[in-house]
Amino acid sequence: MPTGAQRTDEAGSQTADRPDDVAEVRDVVIIGSGPAGLTAAIYTARADLKPLVLEGEPSSTSDQPGGQLMLTTEVENFPGFVDGVMGPELMASFRAQAERFGAEIRTVRATRVDLSSRPFAVWYGDPDGEPQVRARALVVATGARSLMLDVPGEARLLGHGLSTCATCDGFFFRGRPIAVVGGGDSALEEAIFLTKFASSVLIVHRRKQLRASKIMQDRAMANPKISFLWDSVVEEVLGEDSVRALSVRNVVTGALSEVPVEGCFVAIGHAPNTSLFAGQLETDAAGYVTTYGGTRTSVDGVFACGDVQDHVYRQAITAAGSGCMAAIDVERYLESQGHA
Ligand code: NAP
Repeated sequence: MPTGAQRTDEAGSQTADRPDDVAEVRDVVIIGSGPAGLTAAIYTARADLKPLVLEGEPSSTSDQPGGQLMLTTEVENFPGFVDGVMGPELMASFRAQAERFGAEIRTVRATRVDLSSRPFAVWYGDPDGEPQVRARALVVATGARSLMLDVPGEARLLGHGLSTCATCDGFFFRGRPIAVVGGGDSALEEAIFLTKFASSVLIVHRRKQLRASKIMQDRAMANPKISFLWDSVVEEVLGEDSVRALSVRNVVTGALSEVPVEGCFVAIGHAPNTSLFAGQLETDAAGYVTTYGGTRTSVDGVFACGDVQDHVYRQAITAAGSGCMAAIDVERYLESQGHA
């Protein structure tokens, strides 16, 4: 029997609200392990709630343990790091800090939740079998993931010259011409980082104005290795076994051209990871979980924090801040239910 179940059994508080299945019951289960989830873990662990974090499984997208910062290069705006910090290094510290206070972290991907039963049922194995764990309070911190272009050649060449992660793959493009698609901060950050390796970086953007912040625009424009292709959309990623060129259409003139590059980084934004909660949690039109008065969701006892509920600020520091809020909301909720 898992440790969590033994602990609650010994405390004598588990059997009263346990349904018929044999799932272990935890006070709090946190789904997601980016800045939001791990901050919620640090705070709930320090409140002695012995949180269980389902951190996800390694993958090549932002939908993975540690979240989007695992795919980020240098983070310069996280307070406390005068000289900046690498995204993966920052997340390793968050994780170690959560474990130091007793958070249990499992490298599994949640496959199903049932928010209509109490305690909430959570699966991370066969979604048709019994749930693996039940939670009196649930924290949704599943974050957001990279959007893709959805053009011919993209899926086939992903990992073969096409990437969404400059940190992971930049090294492979030493001395080669590459393109970055997008006009936001992510695109410019990736482009600037990639100039360390690539011979040239072409930013392909669908408009004439960049969406990125002024400071990033200034840096990109001042970088001699970076150039821009305005009013342009990628129609196809070309190449047999690896990226050879992009087929690009000018949206003003309609002209099609072939741009020779040996790598392409897609950095066009993100979508919230909410499919697990479809039909169970209220979301806005763009699919982000709706929160009320802090981190409460449409289901009592379920709290949401980080990018899964924030399409406005979307920063590591705001995600971490909302993770802290979720932990405090969980603590008060459990207290009100007589569990903490
Ligand atoms: P974003 O701000 O939403 O920008 C996405 C970019 O991709 C936009 O320029 C958009 O074009 C373009 N785009 C979207 N869909 C496209 C498509 N199908 N085809 C071609 N282009 C497409 O996303 P982000 O850059 O990932 O940034 C997200 C948030 O994180 C922002 O708030 C950003 O400030 C923040 N961030 C900050 C930093 C930093 O401070 N260092 C680094 C990374 C991210 P349009 O402009 O025409 O809409």
